[in-house]
Amino acid sequence: MKKLALHWKIIIGMILGIIFGFLMNSVSGGKDFVTDWIAPFGKIFINLLKLIAVPLILASLIKGISDLKDISKIKSMGLRTIGIYIGTTVIAIIIGLSIVNIVKPGVGMPEETIEKIKTTYQGNADVMIGKAKATQDAGPLQALVDVFPSNIFKSFAEPAMLQVIFFALFVGICLLLISEKKAKPLIDFFDSLNEVVMKMVDLIMLFAPYAVFALMANVIIAFDDTTILVKLLGYAACVVVGLFLMICFYMLLIKLVTKKSPLWFLNRFSPAQLLAFSTSSSAATLPVTMERVEEHLGVDKEVSGFVLPVGATVNMDGTSLYQGIAAVFIMQVIWPEGLTLTNQLVIVGTALLASIGSAAVPSAGMVMLVIVLEAIGFPAELLPIGLALIFAVDRPLDMCRTVVNVTGDATVSMLVAKSLGKLHDNPVPKEWDDNYDK
Ligand code: ASP
Repeated sequence: MKKLALHWKIIIGMILGIIFGFLMNSVSGGKDFVTDWIAPFGKIFINLLKLIAVPLILASLIKGISDLKDISKIKSMGLRTIGIYIGTTVIAIIIGLSIVNIVKPGVGMPEETIEKIKTTYQGNADVMIGKAKATQDAGPLQALVDVFPSNIFKSFAEPAMLQVIFFALFVGICLLLISEKKAKPLIDFFDSLNEVVMKMVDLIMLFAPYAVFALMANVIIAFDDTTILVKLLGYAACVVVGLFLMICFYMLLIKLVTKKSPLWFLNRFSPAQLLAFSTSSSAATLPVTMERVEEHLGVDKEVSGFVLPVGATVNMDGTSLYQGIAAVFIMQVIWPEGLTLTNQLVIVGTALLASIGSAAVPSAGMVMLVIVLEAIGFPAELLPIGLALIFAVDRPLDMCRTVVNVTGDATVSMLVAKSLGKLHDNPVPKEWDDNYDK
């Protein structure tokens, strides 16, 4: 019998988890059972992925930079990466804004629906606004200051990904500046640390189908008021269609630039997308994204080691597309007079910045949406209602936008690798699976 490919195992785990979640939703005590006995396995899985994220970024980035042998290459890779990241994000926002302006999902929502949503989700909205305020209270350059750590162990512990990236870059560059003889032991150390962490990813992924079952069951038991979900279907559909178009755009880029077929890409990368969907966190998915991109898509470590950790933190095309749609949807419902062209242009700029500033964890995009809304002068007293409006469907949309976020990072890493001659043709993964089309 042919061995089942990993992505199929994960999909089966996901479907069974969804069915199990619905079943448990309908029996008394079912939700508690899932919370007490099933959900912890999902948590263990996420913990394991987070556990290896910091050593992985350190090892792959330091190794990658020191392999470049030339500081000017770092500059050219850095500039290309940031340039493409910004470009794809702006395209994502434009796609989002176009869809929401054409479909107008928020126009004509009945007063009583708005009232019901408000009373149900006001509390949750307040929590989001509180979190956003904490970000805003800092000065305008605080985000920049935060990139430079004063205590690297604190950065590891939090973990503050941009600080870890900065530290790794710094170490990597200094390794290039000292003599080869002195640099070699440390480079060898990080090289073998990188191998160990990659092996850890392989082992952790054996557990993925079961973990995904637990994660999905836990997501499903959180939905009880489906009547509100139905009312928000138009808005949710706009986001999903936009995200789908974005994936098509990436596939087109891959086809045009690297000549690889979308199926080839999806076959090899889908385990990372499925995990992004189940965990709603690009940061938790990062180790798997890196493993897939390096070993299955053929991107050289020199490139992936830099492009992916940076991307997981700052490149969130799915999030920015969603922020564009959500902001305009909220305005269509409760603040139509704010729907001016200038405001929509401001949304392009702020959604770009907000997606860069969003942490790669569940719901971060919604917290940063507050900043997008405030930038266009959205009335403060309407903010809680605005966020309450979209709260009910936020988790499923978060799952979908996280898939786009990680796919965007993988795509850009392939483009950058191709442009630098660092994309290997037909890589043979260490864990070769017969079901791949080679
Ligand atoms: N959950 C997303 C991510 O981790 C961020 C967001 O849009 O909330 O990529």
